[in-house]
Amino acid sequence: MAKAQQTVLEINLNALTHNFEYLKSKLNSETKFLAVVKAFAYGSDSVEIAKHLQKLNIDYFAVAYAHEGVALRDAGIIAPILVLHPQVVNFKTIIERCLEPSLYSARILNEFIKVTEAEKQKEYPVHIKFNTGLNRLGFWQSDVDYIVSKLKNTQSVKAKSLFSHLAASEDKNEREFTLNQIKDFKSIATNFESQTDYKPWLHLSNTSGVINYPEAHLDMVRCGIGLYGFGNSAEQDSNLRPIAQLKSIISQIHHIEKGETVGYNRAYTSKGFEKTATIPIGHADGISRQFGQEKGFVFINNQKAPIIGNVCMDMIMVNVTNIDCNEGDEVIIFDGKHKASELAASAKTISYEILTAISQRVKRYIIY
Ligand SMILES: *Cc1c(COP(=O)(O)O)cnc(C)c1O
Repeated sequence: MAKAQQTVLEINLNALTHNFEYLKSKLNSETKFLAVVKAFAYGSDSVEIAKHLQKLNIDYFAVAYAHEGVALRDAGIIAPILVLHPQVVNFKTIIERCLEPSLYSARILNEFIKVTEAEKQKEYPVHIKFNTGLNRLGFWQSDVDYIVSKLKNTQSVKAKSLFSHLAASEDKNEREFTLNQIKDFKSIATNFESQTDYKPWLHLSNTSGVINYPEAHLDMVRCGIGLYGFGNSAEQDSNLRPIAQLKSIISQIHHIEKGETVGYNRAYTSKGFEKTATIPIGHADGISRQFGQEKGFVFINNQKAPIIGNVCMDMIMVNVTNIDCNEGDEVIIFDGKHKASELAASAKTISYEILTAISQRVKRYIIY
């Protein structure tokens, strides 16, 4: 790997292959694999990730919003794409670009049927989303009869799958709650199937569901974070490889006297004769101000350098008093060894937020 000469996010496709194979090894051979590539594939590069996974014969993709699916189609992705959170205004685009909507409420179901009928569609594939406890999106268990009656009344759409989402699959203390979600979802499916002459696919598990609840793998699983190298526990993290490494460079080094201050609002005061390094990455790149005031840190020559003072829009300053380093040296914000999950924990957040926050200003490089 080349030394960073500016702030870059390197995306390692070999690590992606490893994570995909690892997660797949948890499944039985009939269970399909959906890769969640929303939010630029968790802040990496959705097109490159999707192209690579398509080569590995992925079954399905999911994005949150319709325009994310359009970007994949524009890039030549031909695998089916589930849109998890569409709005009515997107329905025409969804049909034009062969995207498959999650239908999560009566309003959304009825509007989608209206549009598919107007567009003279036949059995357009849709995915019916049920709420089993997350209380975010989805029909209720008691809505099955209503949904079936609506579907029987039209030729224009067909429920290709029924799905729900686990609220706490990573949390062993919530096992009972999760098992209840699984049970409720299975009874929704039984009720649905008893009223139709075919079986839609069933899917419920995210990454932690795949790892912790084999009984919930069903016909397909939906993995996001695991593909990107995090398993929501130290034990699982050790089986996965972070695909992204965020690197930068020391732009300038300053030597400051005791009592001098660093950065906006003079938020850091030097405790003695100190050495600081200025690094070209700031909150506009995804390093939140939460990481200021010595909460967050970077690694320079394998040593930890805390972020001092306030995070600026385009820069951070770190304390390198005890680190042997020079202008031009490489800075690691996170990589496979210094994990994004550890940096996340320093500001009481999770790997998901750190990864997806890396803004589009940061150059992406694909490596193998
Ligand atoms: C984001 C998302 C996932 C992926 O979850 P991970 O924990 O990243 O594996 C799966 N299903 C739905 C509905 C989601 O919104």
